[in-house]
Amino acid sequence: MTLLFKCDMTAAEPWLEALANQMPDREIRVFPDIGSREDIEYALVYEPPPGLMKSLPNLKVIFSLWVGIDHLTKDPELPPVPVVRMVERCLTASMTEYVVQQVLNFHKDCLDYRALQAKRHWEQLELKAAWDRNVGILGLGTLGRDAAEKLAALGFNVAGWSRMQKEMPDIDCYHGSEGLSPFLARTHILVCLLPLTDATRGILNKQLFEQLPRGASVINCARGGHLVEPDLLQALDDGQLAGAALDVFEQEPLPDNHQFWNHPRIVVTPHIAAFSLPETAVESVVNNIDRIEAGQPPLNAVDFERGY
Ligand code: NAP
Repeated sequence: MTLLFKCDMTAAEPWLEALANQMPDREIRVFPDIGSREDIEYALVYEPPPGLMKSLPNLKVIFSLWVGIDHLTKDPELPPVPVVRMVERCLTASMTEYVVQQVLNFHKDCLDYRALQAKRHWEQLELKAAWDRNVGILGLGTLGRDAAEKLAALGFNVAGWSRMQKEMPDIDCYHGSEGLSPFLARTHILVCLLPLTDATRGILNKQLFEQLPRGASVINCARGGHLVEPDLLQALDDGQLAGAALDVFEQEPLPDNHQFWNHPRIVVTPHIAAFSLPETAVESVVNNIDRIEAGQPPLNAVDFERGY
């Protein structure tokens, strides 16, 4: 069994070490030294050159080094083999840390206290219990579920919204287009953890912000394409929204002259909400290869019809 590995070569070393440690009996070939194309059965890749995957006649599965698969779907000739998203415990844990941190920042009025500190002004704002703060998570998949559970454990009143109906202990689950308005109406802090699809592009827009209670906050740690940037600026200026924490942007890196950088009600982070560790990521790839070789379908395969 041969696995082809391709990522940004500056970051390749720890990945190759983890692959060698956890797949001692398997041959790893590193792009562009791919040798005979017939040998390759698995590919673990970030942004492979268009046509490369199609040129591997015995390829069984493509493993994405990222959760999102936008770097793969740029290839118009992707072969009809399963594509597996990166789902691994470090990535999930780090996203939950980011979400909890940003929710707590809004819950504890951190933006207001920074502004008061800058003015050397001592003022105690109204304090609220976590259970009086309603957090709403758009997307109850691998990442949304974990964040929802941890926030509920901290005492927040948590709801989630997904495409299909869900049941989760301690979480109010809404689904589908008819579930969106009631979900928004009860949400003080909104977190976006949706995949970027035709149905979700631009979902964080004026119409959605208007359905949140006045003074709500928004956290986007999914993809920049979910947010209509001028609508966010308008909602903040109007006071409909009190703040936003953004990790992802339509254009990355965020341009120097972008209004978000200096906005007093926006927290900008440079797409660092979640990260994968090679050890834990390779562990999930090895588990999936073992499944496939035992004749089972891979876990976390992308359903191209629904778009994620
Ligand atoms: P996932 O497991 O595929 O879950 C996606 C969730 O979104 C599911 O609950 C799904 O509903 C829901 N959903 C999809 N389309 C919907 C629609 N039209 N209406 C309502 N709900 C919809 O994805 P994940 O692993 O949690 O990852 C979520 C996203 O996080 C990724 O796609 C990526 O964009 C982003 N991400 C960002 C970073 C970062 O560093 N900022 C890192 C990793 C991932 P069902 O459950 O009903 O299918």
